[in-house]
Amino acid sequence: MTDVSEPLTEDELRARYREERDKRIRPDGNEQYIDLIDRFAHYLEDPYVPIVEREPVTDHVTVAFIGGGFAGLVTGARLKQAGIDDVRIVEKGGDFGGTWYWNRYPGAQCDTAAFIYMPLLEETGHMPTEKYTKAPEILEHCQRIANHFDLYDNALLSTEVTDLVWDADASVWNITTNRGDAFTAKYVAMGTGPLHRPKLPGIPGIEFYEGHTFHTSRWDYDYTGGDPAGGLMTGLADKKVGIIGTGATSVQCIPHLAKACGELFVFQRTPSSIDIRNNSATDPEWFETLEPGWQQRWLDNFTLLQTGGFADEDLVMDGWTDISQRIRDKAMENGDFSPEGLEKAYHDSDDEKMAEIRARVDEVVGDTATAEALKPWFRQLCKRPCFHDEYLDAYNSPNVTLVDTDGKGVESINAAGLTVAGEQYDLDCIIYASGFEVGTEYARRSGYDVTGVDDVKLSDRWADGMRSLHGMHVRGFPNMFVVSPSQAANLISNVPHNLTEAGQTLATIVSHAESIGATTVQTSEDAENEWVAMLLEGGRRFGNNPDCTPGYYNNEGHDPGPKALLNMVGYPEGPVAFFDFINTWRTNGNFEGLTFT
Ligand code: NDP
Repeated sequence: MTDVSEPLTEDELRARYREERDKRIRPDGNEQYIDLIDRFAHYLEDPYVPIVEREPVTDHVTVAFIGGGFAGLVTGARLKQAGIDDVRIVEKGGDFGGTWYWNRYPGAQCDTAAFIYMPLLEETGHMPTEKYTKAPEILEHCQRIANHFDLYDNALLSTEVTDLVWDADASVWNITTNRGDAFTAKYVAMGTGPLHRPKLPGIPGIEFYEGHTFHTSRWDYDYTGGDPAGGLMTGLADKKVGIIGTGATSVQCIPHLAKACGELFVFQRTPSSIDIRNNSATDPEWFETLEPGWQQRWLDNFTLLQTGGFADEDLVMDGWTDISQRIRDKAMENGDFSPEGLEKAYHDSDDEKMAEIRARVDEVVGDTATAEALKPWFRQLCKRPCFHDEYLDAYNSPNVTLVDTDGKGVESINAAGLTVAGEQYDLDCIIYASGFEVGTEYARRSGYDVTGVDDVKLSDRWADGMRSLHGMHVRGFPNMFVVSPSQAANLISNVPHNLTEAGQTLATIVSHAESIGATTVQTSEDAENEWVAMLLEGGRRFGNNPDCTPGYYNNEGHDPGPKALLNMVGYPEGPVAFFDFINTWRTNGNFEGLTFT
């Protein structure tokens, strides 16, 4: 193995990165994970809100929105602001919130500064209490948006859409659900989230485990005790707990588990990069000084700086803008702002940052072998960068053991626990922090298919990959809108920004269609083809180069091929240019690429 002591030469560092990547590449890629159906379906059950019996709904609404997370909330808000009152949100969870409804694991908090991460702050008059707010406050904010814009009355919560069929004669969508509802909507929109469906690792024997288990997105507080606000999980005091996975979720909940568990075993395949968090409480006096329109200014400033642009000041100053600032500083230091110069600045600043991150592990973690195993050997943006000030220290607790699998993952699971490298670990509870489906089929992730014109299914239409105009309109699916970052801005560092823009666009289109008495609005084959061709030609994609260690950012290290590539591409000139483009598109009144009939 390459010598791990730093400083390494650039060649040695690259060799180490390649080595770490190569040993993790698996031929089964995305297929290594288990879909939560049949015997695993119970992992999806809602542990938070009991299902309340109600009569099936059989009416008609103007807009039905599938998904009650940020996408549904901000679109619902924009529709209401545009005077479209008859909006129904259908949500699987027992309340609004989406990601923040499901992810109530202890320690959950936003990683992008709350002032830009939490949407509609000015509209709802909320001041985030901290720079990186905790999950309960974000969930409460989701409820605040729903209340403020009156989205509860017409909503169908604890309800899953089972079918969505276009009725060409009546020009409406027929929507059916698992609660017996069968209603129609003139327009439908879908914001079911890119990381929506939990997945389990396909570890041999997983079905034989007889202890307690749950996925982090369905935290079982009945078993663990404690609460999402971080109350001590007293139920774990006498338990041997194993957690599988060390991604962004695990990084946030492990410090809490470390305080609570009798013994905690962390099973690691790839360590995350852990940069400084440096959270702080918001000063209300300072907040008062923000001038109206501040949130949009902050959003624009963040997006500009985070995607390589220049601005007089960094308003947000979080971990994401820091990454970009370092690249700019490096280019300045090298005196070279050519594309090659910026590429070099990126490499140099990333090498420096990752060396700092590895050095921080040595500073914090007492045990040398544990510290070595916690060091990430990849570029910071190969995986979701993490920011935390207690995670590494958790490994200094005598009750916490890091079981590093040297990139191989857990070997097998059995009735009593699991094995790594032939060694048995008996466990009372296994927590799966194994993430969410990203690279799988749309219909599998959302749980329903859509039937458009001429009975064409969306799953067939997208059999060779997603195709859309602006990431929102799909040929053959009139009056249907997709609300997601894909094939549009693709701003991964602040997903809600993509959604608020999309919500605004959608509301503008619907209110225009209604004002001219249109029955349908749809895109044409030419418009869709041109958009997709432009994206592919531009080559700007979410996901890093295949040199990175595998994960959902890079299609598990496999060449994405033409199909997966279509899910990863974004507007060639980047998010700032896309937001400019779409703003002009929706305000010039031409709605180019759409036909209203
Ligand atoms: P991830 O997909 O990031 O992590 C899954 C973890 O499970 C990885 O560490 C993975 O290892 C590990 N794993 C998978 N299979 C095995 C196996 N067989 N044996 C051992 N380990 C295994 O999921 P998360 O829930 O952590 O995060 C998902 C995303 O959610 C993040 O990337 C982020 O976008 C978002 N998130 C955002 C937060 C925020 O904004 N505050 C907080 C938490 C999550 P390997 O890396 O080797 O694949």
